[in-house]
Amino acid sequence: MANEILNSLLKEYEQKKLKSEIDLEKRKEELYTKIPKLKEIEDELNYSAIQIAKQILNNQDSSLITSLQNKIDNLKKQKQNILKSENIEPNYLEPYYECALCKDTGYIKDNYSQSQMCSCLKQKLLDNAFNKSNMTNLNNQNFEKFNELIFSNKVEFEKYKRNISPRDNIINIKNRCEAFIDNFDNPNHKNLLFTGNTGLR
Ligand SMILES: [Zn+2]
Repeated sequence: MANEILNSLLKEYEQKKLKSEIDLEKRKEELYTKIPKLKEIEDELNYSAIQIAKQILNNQDSSLITSLQNKIDNLKKQKQNILKSENIEPNYLEPYYECALCKDTGYIKDNYSQSQMCSCLKQKLLDNAFNKSNMTNLNNQNFEKFNELIFSNKVEFEKYKRNISPRDNIINIKNRCEAFIDNFDNPNHKNLLFTGNTGLR
């Protein structure tokens, strides 16, 4: 089950990533029609990147690699200057990822180059567990909304097999719960266990 949830979340991530890349292509297309110089710069950037890769693979002269790197830096600066002069945000030609940390892949590399789950994916898994726990309605279902008056103050031993009224009983339960919360950090404080017939709450 946990795996199914993870897999379906990862599928969502793939879709998100794909969408941000398609959106980027649309933005590029529109902007390049308007400012063809940007398209030229992009083509030259791509070409230079391929040249660098080739030089590195062939173990060529490092001064050539440095000069190509300088060229790339220069092209990037030119691109940023054009964007600035057009009042366009600097990252307009980058994909807009929902999570900049993992670029919507759900995973990041740690200091040892090991793949780690990104905090956004961990949060999604937690949210999922939280939704299943019936705790999503905390705005309405909390101690501030607690009203003991809806419980009868009549002791009915025959019905409830208890010598206290349902109202006193629920007040006791509430006090126990509050004590549990107040002592949540105390390792010596006992846990709470709710029991009852299926469907009771
Ligand atoms: Zn992330």
